Amino acid sequence: MTKKRVQRCVYCGSEGPLSIDHVVPISQWHKYNLKRRVLDNKSNRVSACLKCNHEKGDMPPKEWFIKHPEYREHFLHHAKYVSDVVKRIAGLIEE
Ligand SMILES: [Zn+2]
Repeated sequence: MTKKRVQRCVYCGSEGPLSIDHVVPISQWHKYNLKRRVLDNKSNRVSACLKCNHEKGDMPPKEWFIKHPEYREHFLHHAKYVSDVVKRIAGLIEE
């Protein structure tokens, strides 16, 4: 018997409706001195509920986690594929 895994928002834990969120908005690749492809892949992609995705918008991820410190731990626990580059930009690990 396999247990069905319920997808949840990596930020608030809501069951949705969910959408794909880029932790670092792809449009900001130049701002962080990165190649666009560093952001346009699964190491920067998470599932987020529409509410979080809408509120986060084009906000720099660091600002987002400062605004919602309660999401940090949940995010770090559930966003398994997110790269250290992305986590660093989001202020979740030390420089
Ligand atoms: Zn959410």
